[in-house]
Amino acid sequence: MCGKRDATVRGRGRIGLLAELCEACWQRLANDIAEEEGATAAPLPDPDPDTMTWIEPPACPECGAEVRVYPTNYDRWVSLATRERPAKDVPPRYRWRLVPTAGGLVAVRVRGIEPLLGDPVVPDHRMFCVAEEDGADDGWGAR
Ligand SMILES: [Zn+2]
Ligand SMILES: [Zn+2]
Repeated sequence: MCGKRDATVRGRGRIGLLAELCEACWQRLANDIAEEEGATAAPLPDPDPDTMTWIEPPACPECGAEVRVYPTNYDRWVSLATRERPAKDVPPRYRWRLVPTAGGLVAVRVRGIEPLLGDPVVPDHRMFCVAEEDGADDGWGAR
């Protein structure tokens, strides 16, 4: 993107090849996608393989509801609802699906093709978040 050719330039993306960029350009691109898709959750701590201690299920910092936090294809994290819903019940911008990879499940926004009305999708937690409904600024200004 910036034409730089150094050691930080490599293929990016957890699924397939999203882009080949240097670190700075990749961070900028990932931030842009994350903001557009709403993948702004705090990352989960790495599980400690040495201890088998129970890890608390993640909760939304805004409303306290239980959520599922997944990495996206661009190293950002998103809070999703704990249960799937048929696509017809979920507005397009809140539709995600989970893709199994060698490193675990990765959340991918459903876009491009319209899913069948009965297809299960995983809704973005913000669809249900009480805090969000209170008119939280979503960055788009007045609607
Ligand atoms: Zn660059
Ligand atoms: Zn919430």
